[in-house]
Amino acid sequence: KIAFLNGQFAPLAELKISVMDRGFLFGDGVYEMIPVYQRVAFRLDEHLVRLANNLAQVRIENPYSISAWREHIQALIHAQTFVDQSIYLQVSRGSAYPRQHAFPLEAMPTVLMFADELEPPPALAVECGVSAITCNDVRWQRCNIKAISLLANVLAKQEAVDAGVAEAILLRDGDLTEGAASNIFIVKDGVIYTPAPSNLMLTGITYDVILELAQQHDLPVTLAPVTEQMLRDADELWLTSSSKEVLAIVNLDGQAVGNGQVGPIYKIMYGLYQNFKMTVMHR
Ligand code: PMP
Repeated sequence: KIAFLNGQFAPLAELKISVMDRGFLFGDGVYEMIPVYQRVAFRLDEHLVRLANNLAQVRIENPYSISAWREHIQALIHAQTFVDQSIYLQVSRGSAYPRQHAFPLEAMPTVLMFADELEPPPALAVECGVSAITCNDVRWQRCNIKAISLLANVLAKQEAVDAGVAEAILLRDGDLTEGAASNIFIVKDGVIYTPAPSNLMLTGITYDVILELAQQHDLPVTLAPVTEQMLRDADELWLTSSSKEVLAIVNLDGQAVGNGQVGPIYKIMYGLYQNFKMTVMHR
């Protein structure tokens, strides 16, 4: 697998970075995961805009212009043997000695990108839905930044895995924020509800796509706080992310969601999402 490190392409297994890298020592960096279908990066500009915003939020200078990012990503995509890919991209503040919390005076950001083969969500998950648990959201107050420091998300996801379910849904002060690695939507009486973007959640690229598709197809949406009660009383529950697309959650904390089956609005939205992916691929 050919990967990218600081402007150079080389086999992933050969790449090396300093142990003094602040990504390694402090989790001091930001990342993106970009899905690629048939060698076309999906929503690339939106990912690059989010990356630029995240870099600005953590005060790391963006190492490349949008067009330079596009070129490097194109080159990475074309260096792979497989056509459906997930591109992982991270920028850390770079390496500096001695180790100290404050920004180093001189450090070059470390830019790493690699591609994995992208597997679509299994047909069984799409057709029958998945299960989830709820977890207390113990994260910091800047969850809108796609930071590589993901310890709380890692622990929440492992709780889900230990419980034998697909996702941990995070609750902060009695309200839904998001999943450990996804955004969450509910449906009640035909209306789609999801929290409005805030500092307590990451605004997913998929979240935005779902809202656009709902609007274009006259599916009613309300951006509003989703309480724990609303979550448990929902007719339908969905998770969204770049890799999982949109999946129905049919069981929450061991209880059926709605009638325990994949719901009708989910089926509509899943179809819209697949069609939208196709139009982008054939552009
Ligand atoms: N929230 C969190 C915490 C995530 O980690 C992710 C994706 N990994 C998302 C939401 C969904 O974002 P996207 O749709 O851009 O993949």
